[in-house]
Amino acid sequence: MSAPIHQRPIQALARGLREGEFTAEALAGHFLARIAASDLNAFIDVQPELTLAQAREADRRLAAGETGPLLGIPVAHKDIFVTRGWRSTAGSRMLADYVSPFDATVVERLAAAGAVCLGKTNCDEFAMGSANENSYFGAVRNPWDRNAIPGGSSGGAAAAVAGGLAPLATGTDTGGSVRQPAAMCGVTGIKPTYGRVSRYGMIAFASSLDQGGAIGRSAGDCAALLGAMAGFDGRDSTSTERPTEDFSAWFGRPLEGLRIGLPREFFGDGLGDDVRAAVEAGLETLRSLGASTHEVSLPDTELAIPAYYVIAPAEASSNLSRFDGVRYGHRAEHYGDLADMYERSRAEGFGPEVQRRILVGTYVLSHGYYDAYYLQAQKLRRLIANDFRAAFAKVDVIAGPVSPTVAWNLGERTDDPVRNYLADVYTLPASLAGLPGLSMPTGFGAGGRPVGLQLIGNYFEEARLLGIAHAFEQRTDWHRRNPDGE
Ligand code: GLN
Repeated sequence: MSAPIHQRPIQALARGLREGEFTAEALAGHFLARIAASDLNAFIDVQPELTLAQAREADRRLAAGETGPLLGIPVAHKDIFVTRGWRSTAGSRMLADYVSPFDATVVERLAAAGAVCLGKTNCDEFAMGSANENSYFGAVRNPWDRNAIPGGSSGGAAAAVAGGLAPLATGTDTGGSVRQPAAMCGVTGIKPTYGRVSRYGMIAFASSLDQGGAIGRSAGDCAALLGAMAGFDGRDSTSTERPTEDFSAWFGRPLEGLRIGLPREFFGDGLGDDVRAAVEAGLETLRSLGASTHEVSLPDTELAIPAYYVIAPAEASSNLSRFDGVRYGHRAEHYGDLADMYERSRAEGFGPEVQRRILVGTYVLSHGYYDAYYLQAQKLRRLIANDFRAAFAKVDVIAGPVSPTVAWNLGERTDDPVRNYLADVYTLPASLAGLPGLSMPTGFGAGGRPVGLQLIGNYFEEARLLGIAHAFEQRTDWHRRNPDGE
């Protein structure tokens, strides 16, 4: 008996389309119905008419004999990518009613590949957060446990895939926002090398760190999605000029001889016992497949948190200055003079975490503090990148946990921003260095909540990471597990 449609890998969905088991329209309709019936709050905007029109167009292309891995396959976009037709809110009141006049490059590319947009997924406001509780549109629930956060900031994306509301979802990762929600929702997520995926039309948070990524139910699904997202874009000056790649090129290669580095600093006191056990079991599986593990050191790991929480707010304070209530975005209804209009519009439009980061960012960039904070943070960033360079002289990839704990309870940490920041310790280093990172399901921890295993590769080694994840999936079935009732 074949799995329910919403639990099938996209290759199987493509086969179903090819063999006439269902049309793209019926497939999109299946997911739209699941979204409408869902209590996860994973979506901010759904426009069934637009979705079904795209699906009918895919059906016409299929009928004309066109093929392609994503032709007719539904995908959900994180509400950080701007879209024509659907609202583009960044999870913020500031943009609550905003409809973009153009599509982000990622959105445009996926549409050209024939993927069918299911709507926009919920996220932390301007992608700032680790729990998806900073969204103006409310928290997202974790499909494995309705009392748990889904992780963030791409929480809606990960919950949608885990909950069978979308086979694929785009995400963005500035300091962990693809990997960490993927881990907490028991799905696979990859953040590529900085510059792989165009940032054009991706609402900016911290431009030197922001990178689009892919979330799916397996390495194969992520490879197909990333393949359609990636590539040079002249409209993004930090986009890298590399030929497009087959991200499944390493599938089927044995892991014999693969050298995996385990950073001592990723397995210290801060790591929860349940997460440690699941990660160790995953590493044992990788060894049983022929890989060898070696202790390495990333001595500046702890400094990633202070460096990131200076650099990211600094860039955010600059990027978010454009939301002033004049050009677009929320404008206060009542105000006195011009300055008062700016103040009220921004005070009303931005939530507390965004305001906190604008304050911090403005402070660290101001005269007299720039050298003490911002410049120091940039130096730390270089040290962190150098640590990886030294490690990659000895090993092929690095492995470790994604998050020190499984998903915490909704509401548990909302009053404690620093506690949220500390939970980013294992994802921030790769972001600061611009390296690719992947999270794959490796079991369950406390409360039956999912645990992810992180793989970090050298620059542009996404295909290798996905190949390792694919080999891991041949030996394990964590990626095939589904939350009850989903
Ligand atoms: N949790 C981190 C933050 O709050 C990372 C977010 C992200 O990657 N977008 O900034």
